[in-house]
Amino acid sequence: MPELPEVESLRRVLRRSALGRSITDARIREIALRRRRTPDFAERVRGRTIHEIRRRAKYLILDLDGDDVLLFHLGMSGSLTHRGRGFDNSEFDPRHDHVDFILDDGSHLVFNDPRRFGMVRLVARADLPGLAELRGLGPEPLSPEFDAAYLAGKARGKRVAIKNLIMDQRIVAGIGNIYASEILFCAKVRPGRRSGRVRRAEIEAIVAATPRVLRAAIGSNGTTFRSYRDSRGQPGRFARRLHVYGRDGEPCHVCGAMVRKSVIGQRASFYCARCQK
Ligand SMILES: [Zn+2]
Repeated sequence: MPELPEVESLRRVLRRSALGRSITDARIREIALRRRRTPDFAERVRGRTIHEIRRRAKYLILDLDGDDVLLFHLGMSGSLTHRGRGFDNSEFDPRHDHVDFILDDGSHLVFNDPRRFGMVRLVARADLPGLAELRGLGPEPLSPEFDAAYLAGKARGKRVAIKNLIMDQRIVAGIGNIYASEILFCAKVRPGRRSGRVRRAEIEAIVAATPRVLRAAIGSNGTTFRSYRDSRGQPGRFARRLHVYGRDGEPCHVCGAMVRKSVIGQRASFYCARCQK
């Protein structure tokens, strides 16, 4: 499932290729994506220019001229690809091309989502901050707001596993199962530890590891498991740099002990019992 680094990588590539382009038309092939779509969707986006491309947590926001924004969530398996001449669409089943924006240079911006947990919505910019999806989100993990004092305050007295705490979107936004495992490995903290029992120095290590792990993943265009592709249709390259996620039974890159897997909060979790305390 795409997390912050995948959406941020997508944003950066898309910003280089689609910013300033106008939407000449939109074709909607799928009427039942996760959220009900505006009935006059195509009319409302026609002729609008893509002014800015932003990200909040795992949401991608395309600012159109005028008062509306396009809000995307990739769900489990969604992709938003910018298809110009020479684009290789062999990875994408055309039956799952749910929304197709045609741009003024003849290229297409296509939202494809085989499992249909993703979403595309047209929202008035003024309504964005109050939107149910965005309202309750915690700070961005790459912002100065996410510091040790903040996380220590959220962890204090909590019984919830530290891994689940940093995956809680209300506490910090954009971190999912892959990067939570990697961050805790880099911070040398076991994922199943009760949040309230994690010491201050360890909280500081988690907060320090977070931007290191996320920025490295953004630099590698994210991690690809099955479906994730950036806007050029390219897979991420971070998978080979993962230390623990998906590596159970393989030797730890640091100490050589076998990476272990356990289930925490119904999610597979990976750690090194020797490196992580
Ligand atoms: Zn180790």
